[in-house]
Amino acid sequence: MISLKHVSKSFGPLKAVDDASLEVKKGEIICLIGPSGSGKSTLLRCIAGLEDPEEGEVWIDGERLDLHSKDQKKLEKLRIKMGFVFQHFNLFPHMTVLENLTLAPIQVLGMDKAAAEQRAMELLARVGLADKRDAYPSKLSGGQKQRVAIARSLCMDPEIMLFDEPTSALDPEMVGEVLDVMKELAKAGMTMVLVTHEMGFAREVATRVIFLADGKMLEENTPAELFANPQNPRLKDFLSKVL
Ligand code: ADP
Ligand code: MG
Repeated sequence: MISLKHVSKSFGPLKAVDDASLEVKKGEIICLIGPSGSGKSTLLRCIAGLEDPEEGEVWIDGERLDLHSKDQKKLEKLRIKMGFVFQHFNLFPHMTVLENLTLAPIQVLGMDKAAAEQRAMELLARVGLADKRDAYPSKLSGGQKQRVAIARSLCMDPEIMLFDEPTSALDPEMVGEVLDVMKELAKAGMTMVLVTHEMGFAREVATRVIFLADGKMLEENTPAELFANPQNPRLKDFLSKVL
């Protein structure tokens, strides 16, 4: 589903991502962990086509994601195979929950309103928020907003879901409800790449965990192995602080 080949991304003299290579198969759940500033978000943004790496190639579902491609339509088609959920929910504040969910399917996919609303209601039910269809985001808790943001991404029928610290901005009592939605998605076979500090989630759900530091992928393993037998001294140090 995702293939990174020697991807590097710099900001001025700083190599935020340094020679990252990765193959993600359909249905895999990849957790990216590492200290702040290690390049996790930049790597995720390279996968999403939101950053333009100066070296290497990103392939999504067998096609090259090339931001310089002359075929912008093809590029857009590739981009919408991926849903991106951020730390801050980025819901449109002046729109109801239902309008937030149906906007892109109507405008980008050209769905008719009735079909978009039907699909949106199915997904709201899936995240347990069908009763909030007419609410404005300001009336929702942080956990509810993030569940709406996930449902909104799912309305575009993505093949891959990318999450960048989806629970970091939440009050602790709301983390569980969002992780539960993500676990459901994982069980349903969604391909997922996520940056998280929730080591319990990584341990339980990830098929692979990747540790980054200074833009480099320093270690990669199943969660069971990576947490029980970390090899790299920087990973050992990191785990001693977060576990
Ligand atoms: P992480 O998500 O692991 O905390 P990031 O990918 O956000 O790390 O950042 C990696 C490095 O790149 C950091 O040193 C950060 O300051 C830098 N960086 C990220 N985005 C930009 C940007 N748009 N311009 C300049 N520097 C950036
Ligand atoms: Mg980040």
